[in-house]
Amino acid sequence: MNPSKDQLPVIYVAQPVIGELEARYVQEAIQRGEVSSLGSFVTEFEERFAKRVGAAHGIATCNGTAALHLALLAAGIGPGDEVIVPSLTFVATANVVKYVDASPVFVDIESNYWGLDYSAVRSAITSRTKAIIPVHLYGHPVDMDPIMSLADEHDLVVIEDAAEAHGAEYKGRPVGSIGHVGIFSFYGNKIMTTGEGGIVVTNDEMVAQRAKQYRDHGSDPVRRYWHPVIGYNYRMTNLQAALGLAQLEQLEGFLERKREISALYRSLMSEIPGIEFQAEESWASPVSWMVSILVGPEKRDELMQRLDEKSIEVRPFFYPLHTLPPYQDITSNCPVAEEVSSRGINLPSGVPLTDKDVERVANAVSEFCLKDQQQA
Ligand SMILES: *Cc1c(COP(=O)(O)O)cnc(C)c1O
Repeated sequence: MNPSKDQLPVIYVAQPVIGELEARYVQEAIQRGEVSSLGSFVTEFEERFAKRVGAAHGIATCNGTAALHLALLAAGIGPGDEVIVPSLTFVATANVVKYVDASPVFVDIESNYWGLDYSAVRSAITSRTKAIIPVHLYGHPVDMDPIMSLADEHDLVVIEDAAEAHGAEYKGRPVGSIGHVGIFSFYGNKIMTTGEGGIVVTNDEMVAQRAKQYRDHGSDPVRRYWHPVIGYNYRMTNLQAALGLAQLEQLEGFLERKREISALYRSLMSEIPGIEFQAEESWASPVSWMVSILVGPEKRDELMQRLDEKSIEVRPFFYPLHTLPPYQDITSNCPVAEEVSSRGINLPSGVPLTDKDVERVANAVSEFCLKDQQQA
């Protein structure tokens, strides 16, 4: 492998914390014979997670993408409809729009915290627009009030993609339950995990019922083997839910540690020339799923390489979705997304990080940037 890699232990980008409590709850599910989706762990997880994020209903799923797909189905998005999606997000946010034969319309992000740009959303609305999907990118809430008023005005559904933002708050309200329907992911690298998993949350009883029906083969709730619509098998298992319950009980601790990690990075790296952090708006309580920085576009890949040589695992930002092969033919104008994407790095951000780990990362970034400045 790389000879310059020294013996330092690897610092991972987003490792979960899985311990005794998880083992105990999963063991309990096994002992009760509750291994499929039938059983009490799933319902308890749904109720408790929904309550945590301020929603009346939770519909747990096999992953976050399935939750997004269900949210669109339950909201009645279908062929011919347009759905407004930020260009800078994980690909699943747009793919689910295609799953229901609707068309994603990519809009730009604003340049401070990289959320949906309000004026871009406003100008993207047409007579075919049915929904907007704000994405709380890397754990920072989108400015929801203007989006909700715009949606009211044009009779649009707002589907929050909160896959990266468990516990984040917008003006004191937890994200996920501000729009008409929201989703979270519990993938292994998310703030809390069920291995693979997701959930739809909503305050709308009808949306909840429809999401449940689509999750379970489109089954009629009372008449067995009667399927009024074509559904899917998107259920979560009790083993996943048992893991999720253990994680949920520790969520506040995870969030606290993530705040500390983010604050430590920001204080250690505030003096480094040429580094910009994701902004934290005054109305937001972000959760820093990923502590994210921008560097000069010509320096980004070199810095990532340098960190890799020091056994520090980092990630580049997502490519703007309008530049990916399946979406290149859609007319899009998203210069901010393109710039931010080309300059962005996600730093190691997982809960297991020690202060020493954060210092090692900050020092490595600092060393690179200072050397670079001297050469300039
Ligand atoms: C992780 C993620 C998803 C998809 O969740 P999975 O559980 O991996 O299917 C969707 N949207 C965003 C923004 C994500 O980060």
